[in-house]
Amino acid sequence: MLMMLALACTTAEDSADGDDVTHDGVDDEGLRTLDSCAESFAADVPAFYSTYFRCIDISMDGDEVVLGTNDLPPHKSSYYPESDPNWEAWDDRGGEYTQNPNSIATQGFVIRIPAAPVAKGITITDALVDLTMMTSDEEYSAGTIGVGLDGVSLYNATAGPGDDIRDEKYGFDMWEAHPSPDSAYHHHSPNPGALAVLVAAGFATTSVPGTAEVELFGINCDGTVVLGCTELDGSDVAAGELDAQGGHLGDLRDADGTTHFEGRYHTHMCAAIDVDAFTPEIQYYDSCEVAGAAP
Ligand SMILES: [Zn+2]
Ligand SMILES: [Zn+2]
Repeated sequence: MLMMLALACTTAEDSADGDDVTHDGVDDEGLRTLDSCAESFAADVPAFYSTYFRCIDISMDGDEVVLGTNDLPPHKSSYYPESDPNWEAWDDRGGEYTQNPNSIATQGFVIRIPAAPVAKGITITDALVDLTMMTSDEEYSAGTIGVGLDGVSLYNATAGPGDDIRDEKYGFDMWEAHPSPDSAYHHHSPNPGALAVLVAAGFATTSVPGTAEVELFGINCDGTVVLGCTELDGSDVAAGELDAQGGHLGDLRDADGTTHFEGRYHTHMCAAIDVDAFTPEIQYYDSCEVAGAAP
């Protein structure tokens, strides 16, 4: 781990930034940003991860990709404690949005994703995708099930019986996220956090969901890739092919012609395709290992 950190500290990008980067995850002003956050990528991780992810530690363990994140967003949020440099005042957006009582705290999630996931062989129908927790054995569990490009947790898109996941957005901050009662900051839907990573890396020029040239949000524990309104190379999505959670199989090839995954199940959360543009509810592949939730 120390060696990976040392490598991460000697990249050209860090040198160009000069002493703005202190490598403890914050810049001179104490701010956690895409430039200051700590991250490391082992030399043997697939290019998909080192190309698209930031603010996260990624290594290989046999045939598993191991992603470790502290889940702290590299941007301001009203959900940081008020004493944190990344805190900003709540914007109630005309009185429609109300902050929840939780706040962000450091997590220690470790997600192990099979390099070659095995499909369960299920068909994802409207009956399975009901946005309600614990209505099927095929659902992802509650809590962190994946990670966004900026190291922030992805949750599934279910609410407890009697609640509607669609209503949760009125508690989201300006980055379309909120913290759980155990202080894990997370997304259920399209968000500018991941797209800001794509902008920083030169893949897109805007981080407004639905309008970016390429929309990739993250990856889930089982290997399901979460995209937005485009394929990885920026091409249009063949909407007619999608299952009940916006998913289908396809090669994930980027604009340079690099094929990162062949025949990989991935979903498109895109309001222009489905007004219920959420993270996947149903786990397509057979393995999901997430450990290290904060005590
Ligand atoms: Zn939530
Ligand atoms: Zn697709």
